[in-house]
Amino acid sequence: MNGESTLPERYERLRLRVREACEAAGRPADAVSILAVSKTFPAAQVLELAALGQRAFGESYLQEALAKIDACDAGRRQALAGRPDAAAPDALEWHFVGPIQSNKTRPLAERFDWVHSIDRERIAHRLSEQRPAGMAALNVCVQVNVSGEASKSGCASGECPELARQVAVLPGLRLRGLMAIPAPSDDPAFQRAQFARLRELFEQLRGEGLAMDTLSMGMSDDLEAAVAEGSTLVRVGSALFGSRARK
Ligand SMILES: *Cc1c(COP(=O)(O)O)cnc(C)c1O
Repeated sequence: MNGESTLPERYERLRLRVREACEAAGRPADAVSILAVSKTFPAAQVLELAALGQRAFGESYLQEALAKIDACDAGRRQALAGRPDAAAPDALEWHFVGPIQSNKTRPLAERFDWVHSIDRERIAHRLSEQRPAGMAALNVCVQVNVSGEASKSGCASGECPELARQVAVLPGLRLRGLMAIPAPSDDPAFQRAQFARLRELFEQLRGEGLAMDTLSMGMSDDLEAAVAEGSTLVRVGSALFGSRARK
């Protein structure tokens, strides 16, 4: 799909797509931010994209993510050591977007800035307890299974309001919004209908007084539909890094 294009070309094309989607939806060009989902791709490509100004990176597999965060930290330190007078580049922001096992929450609480995939109370409590005292609260989204697919992670739409209210009061967490991965579809009307469900839940909860600012929805193949329905953050992997080998 990406032919022989380079990462800088794909990044520029993606930013143009997001700008055009915002324009088509009558939204400001800066209403939607890009999360670069780097799972299965090496730290070198993360650092290449970071050098172009991308700060937020998403990962789905914990062991891979931890090794990559370490490698990126080392790469940044090395770059700085070569230029002692240079201003330190902004730190990267790491987002976990994958399924969470309850016995693997500690490294998430200690190493990530965001977790998008909170789907049950037990996970939220553990992350809150395990967030180190010296760090800012962990930014989180509640993941909702908007398509109702049995195989998909995320809480049921009907459970989302109660879970969001519980997350909102945990001291180690800061509830930022909702996330969904709808069933894949080539039909833009179907894509929009699924994203609309997440937006409606989001608006309902904000109407109840929950302070949230993030609708994490839209990926490489459906970001236009997501932006049309109010996405504030698109999570993009293959359109940036190329197609992934199947796990
Ligand atoms: C892999 C992944 C993405 C990126 O998907 P692409 O189709 O490659 O853009 C986004 N969100 C989540 C939760 C993912 O696991």
